[in-house]
Amino acid sequence: MSAIISDGKKLAESVKAGLARQVEETMKETGARIRIVNILIGNDHSAVFYARSQQRTAEELGIDYELLEMPETVAEMEVMSRIFDINSDENIHGVLIHKPLPDHIDGQIVSNCVALEKDIEGMNSANIGNVLLGQSRVIPCTAAAVMEHLKSAGVELRGKEVVVIGASAIVGKPLALLLLQEYATVTVCHIATAEVGMLESHVKRADVVVVAVGKPGLIKGDMIKQGAVVIDVGINRVDGKLIGDVDFESVFPKASMLTPVPGGVGPMTVVMLMRNALEAYKAQKGLV
Ligand code: NAD
Repeated sequence: MSAIISDGKKLAESVKAGLARQVEETMKETGARIRIVNILIGNDHSAVFYARSQQRTAEELGIDYELLEMPETVAEMEVMSRIFDINSDENIHGVLIHKPLPDHIDGQIVSNCVALEKDIEGMNSANIGNVLLGQSRVIPCTAAAVMEHLKSAGVELRGKEVVVIGASAIVGKPLALLLLQEYATVTVCHIATAEVGMLESHVKRADVVVVAVGKPGLIKGDMIKQGAVVIDVGINRVDGKLIGDVDFESVFPKASMLTPVPGGVGPMTVVMLMRNALEAYKAQKGLV
């Protein structure tokens, strides 16, 4: 037996098609376009590349996308002031702030400056709180992308052992909450799990493994249970090639489903951001 590959590009295309129809209908109803702004600080090559991919997807969906670039040395106060301007601009409906940020800028402070209704990344503390309560309309995009992969493959989560590796505020923690809402039994592993040599024993008993760490080849075939579902969120550049956190060759024969890198979780993440933009717009126009 070998794994079914969960094709993120195909999935993203089908979700995009439905979303494009909804965007068109919604804009027809309001007579105004959806507009989002990406705040990009510094000129990191991969950030610019990622912004271009967001822009392409936005354009395909008929959403206006603006890249607001600021120098690496910009003061935190200046970033906050630009966010406050955007908050009061009724022609802008969504804001995202590219991470990581330079060390002198506190990511949570600036995310908390984004008006709740314009926070399309779901990173404002109040939105994260709503995820905890299961009341959020805007879910952090990567966690939402993982859930879409599981849903589209018909993976039953109720009562299943799910091990999430990586506990960041942007991926692992919100994902653990979403899985919990589906009544999975969730274990979250992190650097300290690895330090005490317990990573393998947790992963071995999992029906579903999600890895979001940023360490190429961390999860190997002999660490997973036969037939496990494996979702690879990691993105690592090795010798000019993108690879995930999963050692594809050894995991492929053992898993029942596997997401590739590239072309797995990544393409869905951008689409989830656009879905959040539509939700934010609808809420601002009183359509929900
Ligand atoms: P992060 O650095 O904020 O968090 C990494 C997590 O991994 C931490 O909780 C840390 O404790 C844990 N960790 C580190 N080493 C470990 C080890 N040896 N064993 C177990 N856990 C370990 O990273 P992040 O922002 O959450 O991103 C994680 C990965 O996911 C990166 O490769 C990133 O590029 C990728 N990512 C992909 C997408 C996408 O759309 N596909 C989106 C966001 C992030």
